[in-house]
Amino acid sequence: MKTSDLRPHGIMFHHFHNEKHIQGQGAISADELAQIIEYYQQSHRILPAREWLEKANQGTLDDHEACLTFDDALLCQYEVALPVLQHFNLTAFWFVYSSVITGGNEKLEIYRKFRTVCFETINDFYRCFYKTISESPYQSAVATALKGFIPEEYLKQFPFYTEPDRQFRFVRDQVLGPNIYTEVLDLMMQAEKIDLPEFTSDLWMNEQQVIDLHAQQHVIGLHSHTHPTALSALDADGQRVEYQTNFETLNRILRVAPDTVSHPCNSYNAETLKILRDLQIKVGFRSNMAEQQISQLEFPREDHANIMEKMAA
Ligand SMILES: [Zn+2]
Repeated sequence: MKTSDLRPHGIMFHHFHNEKHIQGQGAISADELAQIIEYYQQSHRILPAREWLEKANQGTLDDHEACLTFDDALLCQYEVALPVLQHFNLTAFWFVYSSVITGGNEKLEIYRKFRTVCFETINDFYRCFYKTISESPYQSAVATALKGFIPEEYLKQFPFYTEPDRQFRFVRDQVLGPNIYTEVLDLMMQAEKIDLPEFTSDLWMNEQQVIDLHAQQHVIGLHSHTHPTALSALDADGQRVEYQTNFETLNRILRVAPDTVSHPCNSYNAETLKILRDLQIKVGFRSNMAEQQISQLEFPREDHANIMEKMAA
């Protein structure tokens, strides 16, 4: 990466594994989290979340001052990562999309577990995916779109994706779109006879766990209500409903108004930032280090996968 990582930023984490939580793509262990923290502390100061936030609000962050962030309200984060943070006496930002902590579901997370549990390798999953498409009405649309597709040009800013990962994300996000993708994946899951309530029971935190994090001095922030993959593609009303509902849900649960956000799938536009400012959100995070920070709602974040690559080099 060309741009310097010496500017205030967050480190972004998603999935963790242990004996209970399966090792899906990109998931790391408690030990790996500890190693990342120790490695990063050699060149940065990792601040407790509330301290980092206060300095961000005052504009007094030093270039080497970083913070830890966890997106998506995942139960594996609470059960695997939280004890590591306690060991280091650190707190973090937790960006919670509220539909899933109030009993809802989110299909992409379910599909992620499905492709991890039901397939030996990610490429086995991709094979089954393309086979299901080849037997569907979407066969020719996908074949046509893939003719001009150059994997290394797509999602360039995420160097750790493989070519099959890039092609899959292209087909999912640019060719099929959310509704048809859901249709294809649901067909695949039906073929495996998945019991949904049982299958989803270990994916997300509940309200009590979010309250507990808040009580332990962590910062709970917004991440939309239902986690659309392309929030900026929604019209202004659609975006407002996402963040208003997210805001009200967290406000009710925590009895304090959230004032931070991370942009789900890095998707936002000028309208999104206006909505967030209306909700008096003070600090926000992107999902990469690619661009200069433009506003208080667009602090960069380094993906832990990039840090692990540097550690291995
Ligand atoms: Zn997310």
